Parts: sequence; C-alpha cells; structure tokens
Amino acid sequence: MSAILPGATIGILGGGQLGRMTAMAARSLGYRVQVMDPDPSCPARFVVDACFEGSWDDARAAADLARGSDVVTLEIEQISMAALEAAARYAPVRPGAELLRIVQDRILQKKWLRENGFPVGPYRTIESAADLVDACSQLGGRIYLKRSHGGYDGRGQLRLDLETGAPGPGSRDLEQRAASAWAGLGEAPCVAEQGLDLKLELSVMVARTPDGGIRAYPSAANHHEDQILVWSVLPSSIPESLEAAAQGIAVSMAEKLKLEGLLAVEMFLTRDGSLYVNELAPRPHNSYHASERCCVTSQFEQAVRAVCNLPLGEVRIIRPGAIANLLGDLWLGQEPRFDLALAVPEVRLHLYEKHTPRRGRKMGHLSATADTPEEAVARVLEAKSYL
Ligand code: ADP
Ligand code: MG
Repeated sequence: MSAILPGATIGILGGGQLGRMTAMAARSLGYRVQVMDPDPSCPARFVVDACFEGSWDDARAAADLARGSDVVTLEIEQISMAALEAAARYAPVRPGAELLRIVQDRILQKKWLRENGFPVGPYRTIESAADLVDACSQLGGRIYLKRSHGGYDGRGQLRLDLETGAPGPGSRDLEQRAASAWAGLGEAPCVAEQGLDLKLELSVMVARTPDGGIRAYPSAANHHEDQILVWSVLPSSIPESLEAAAQGIAVSMAEKLKLEGLLAVEMFLTRDGSLYVNELAPRPHNSYHASERCCVTSQFEQAVRAVCNLPLGEVRIIRPGAIANLLGDLWLGQEPRFDLALAVPEVRLHLYEKHTPRRGRKMGHLSATADTPEEAVARVLEAKSYL
C-alpha cells in the first residue's frame, strides 16, 4: 500500500486536545489538517485549516470531513458507526470501524479480550438491577460499575463499597444499593468489575501501519485520583520481565486487531504481581503526553506516520519525563501562576485553549524532564504546586 505523503490532508474526527496536538505534529510534517467537532471553538480549531461542526453521530458532517481528506483518523472512540461508515465512503478511516465497534463498547471489548486470551480481572455484564445484585454477591468487596458506552475520566462510573456497612449477600440493603447504582448510571448496560488491589497502573502505546509495521513504546506509569489521571511518567521503571509481558500484550493486540493507527493499552499491576488489561483506547493517550519530550518520536507524530502508512519512528526514551494534568479546578480561584511553574528547570507548559474552566475538565498539562523518572515526577509536581 502506498504512503500518504506530506502535502496531503488529514481529517480528524474530534477536535479536543488530542486532536489539537496531533494536528500540530501533522503540520510540522507538512500536512494539511481538518477536524470535525461539535464545538466550533474546540481546542484544535486554532491550528487546523478547517473545522466541520458536527456531533459524534453526524454522518453528514463526517462525510464532509472525509470528502476533503486523504485519510481520516480520530481522537475519540465514541464516533457512531454511521458516521464512521459515511466517512469511509470518501477516505480510508484509520483505525477502522471494525476495531472501533469492539473498543467503544466495554462489554464487547471485555469479551474480545477474554476470548483472545488477554488477562482481564473478574467482572460481570450487567443488564438489570438484579444482575447487579448477583454480581455484587459473586464479586464482593469493592465494585467498579462502568457504563458500557460513553464514559471517560471516571464519568459514567460508580464505585460500590460493599465492605463499608456491608450487608450479607441477598439482603434488602444490597438490593437497594444495587437499585440506586443501576438508576444512577441511567439503567444502561454496564460492566461490574471487582476492585483490584493495585500496585501500579501502566499503559503501553502501540502503533501499527496498514503495511504491518509495528512499534510499542516503553510502558508509562500512571497515577490516578478519583478515577482521573493526575500524573504520568516515562519510563515506568518496572522489572524487565514485566515490561516484556506488557509489551507482548500490546503488540499481539495490535496484530490481532489489524490496527491501523495508535492503540493505548491501559493495564493494572496488582499487589500479587498479576498484570491485567483495564481498557483500550485507539488514539493518542493522556499517559503518553510526555513522549513529546522523552521519546525520539512523540505519540502524535507516530499517529500521523501510522495512518499515513509511513515508516514508524523510533520509540526509544532519550530522557525520562513526566506530565501532570491541569484541571479546570485550578482556574476557579485566581489565575494560575504559570510564571512560577515555568521557573522550575526543564518544565514546559501545554495549554489546550479551552475557554471555560470546569471542575475536572482537562485544560492543559505541565511536563518536565530530568535525569531519572523519579526526579521528573518531583519536578512536574513541584511546578504544579506553584500554580
Ligand atoms: P476511564 O474510561 O474513565 O479511564 P477506567 O476504566 O480506566 O475508566 O477507570 C478509571 C480509573 O479507575 C482507573 O485508571 C483506576 O484508577 C480505577 N479503576 C477502574 N477499574 C478498577 C478496578 N477494577 N480496580 C481498581 N481500580 C479501578
Ligand atoms: Mg482509563
């Protein structure tokens, strides 16, 4: 298959921060870029040639985007099948609809992972309050209840702590809690996962081209609070055998899915040393923002190379680095003191040009590099503390 060379136009479904940073990398390589987003002043708006206004299920806007594009990619997995199919009539869509169909539905995704021999933690599929009662009594302890469709950054999720004031299985109290959790998530299909005892959260970014070129980045270690990523560091410093296992999972997944583009594989390492796949994201990922600073090739450039069927770039780490997310909460008092943060050595600021700060909304991130991963984390958190 031939490469799509610089000068061509890349269409991106979604114009949030991931689309914006991908667009900036594409521009550096000499591509033209256009996006589709429901918000006409989305973050990518300011760095692209054109912005088509359309919601994730707008097949007509997706077709308009694709008509003027040589290839279409995406920065969000919740694009409707109709929109993907409409776009695919005019330009190759990478990653394609078949992969997205599996990934955008948590129930299907888990089923696919299990059937293909990837390690997933204990879970049940929930389609009613009664299913949830059964799942609670079978899985016990802490439960993460996640909507099958449309959640991100912990949204569309609930935690059930059956140990605190926990009733015995089958009691009325359990039934009430299950009923209110089921209602709380909109009575939509969910998965109930057993809460795992985590030692570490990891991710591995893998890229694959239509010609089958494949590269997996060294794993990143990720720190979450309230189910949102707070900071992330590259490399993760896990033992070599675990690293090999994590890489092996990501590469084999990319091959089985015939990936065209990027796939981020989020993983859990439990205290007893087991590695589980948490979830998949077929796009650039928050935990690899540091790749812009640390790796020979950033995840954003790699996304462009992969969907354009160019040779993939080296993924080696040149210098350890970390990022810390900047949520809208930071803006709710006084203007953040970026001047103070930027005085910390090797720190850089990345803002997404979102106009309305909201609690929990990702507005930007700080990055820092250092001699060691630990120092990079310390630096980025120090810089953040001055905001
Ligand atoms: P999102 O789509 O919002 O990223 P995730 O499924 O990745 O949803 O969950 C967000 C975070 O919640 C995880 O990164 C982890 O910190 C925590 N979490 C989710 N599921 C579990 C689980 N089964 N056991 C322990 N922690 C979990
Ligand atoms: Mg996640």
